[in-house]
Amino acid sequence: MGSIIDGKAFADRLSESLKLEVASLIANHNLQPSIAVVLVGDDPASHVYVRNKVRRCEQLGIESIEHRLPSSTSQEELLTLIEQMNQDSNINGILVQLPVPDQIDDKAVIDAIAPEKDVDGFHILNAGALAVGQNQMIPCTPLGSLMLLKDQLGNLSGMHAVVIGRSNIVGKPMASLLLQENCTVTTVHSRTRNIEEICRTADILVAAVGIPRMVKADWVKEGATIIDVGINRIEEDGKSRLVGDVDFADVIDKVNAATPVPGGVGPMTIACLMYNTVAAAKKQAGIS
Ligand code: NDP
Repeated sequence: MGSIIDGKAFADRLSESLKLEVASLIANHNLQPSIAVVLVGDDPASHVYVRNKVRRCEQLGIESIEHRLPSSTSQEELLTLIEQMNQDSNINGILVQLPVPDQIDDKAVIDAIAPEKDVDGFHILNAGALAVGQNQMIPCTPLGSLMLLKDQLGNLSGMHAVVIGRSNIVGKPMASLLLQENCTVTTVHSRTRNIEEICRTADILVAAVGIPRMVKADWVKEGATIIDVGINRIEEDGKSRLVGDVDFADVIDKVNAATPVPGGVGPMTIACLMYNTVAAAKKQAGIS
């Protein structure tokens, strides 16, 4: 049986070291890292995500400022708030929880955030920097996934990594990071032919699709390492549960290691948001 990659335990260790770092920044530099979190509208899942992020900030000593705006908020109002926060030197990181209501263009919002405060790493300049290997702010989910892979496998050089999904927030940055680790990278997506065949050649398989339990045992190579980014809520046996894009129970006997859902990539995403916030605060204060 393959090993279960414990993302929660890794995220707890990372958070513990960040907590010490925050305490040292406060004591030695009078610098308390801070993040502003903006939530527009009533999406229940977004409320849960924001609550978890704010709670994690408190645990680490990072200051969090919440802006909860009504779903009627106009794009102009949101952009004005972002500009105020860009100018506020007491705010190190800005996160606008996606999705935003239809009347707001999410690209315009993301690109209005000062790149050095873009702790989600979605700004076009941060995306471009990653694509050319001059990493600035790296998106949290791919960053956390890479940390888990390196912890599990050490040197990734020469391995064939297949990434299922090509979104700007997960698939594409994940592929760039794996390329930087000298993997041979294949990205597959909804138009790919022979997707199962390609996945079966992967030493590392990252699934970021949004289809519950899509990846079955016959999609994976024996001994592969699997990172399951997917978070899908399904009704099963009369219960609501979270499952990944990988059929964990089906693949685990065949693979070297795999992340579970929940408890795999999810906790790493929040921990890496804290990591990016601390890094942003240090950079803005000129602390190496
Ligand atoms: P998107 O919907 O933006 O992208 C999904 C990708 O999957 C697209 O590139 C799409 O291809 C591809 N795809 C869709 N159907 C298929 C198919 N049948 N075969 C192969 N590829 C397919 O999703 P995200 O990247 O934002 O998120 C992916 C998953 O990860 C979701 O479940 C999301 O909830 C989860 N997630 C988890 C996070 C965490 O913290 N663990 C953070 C962020 C996301 P195409 O481009 O051709 O349409």
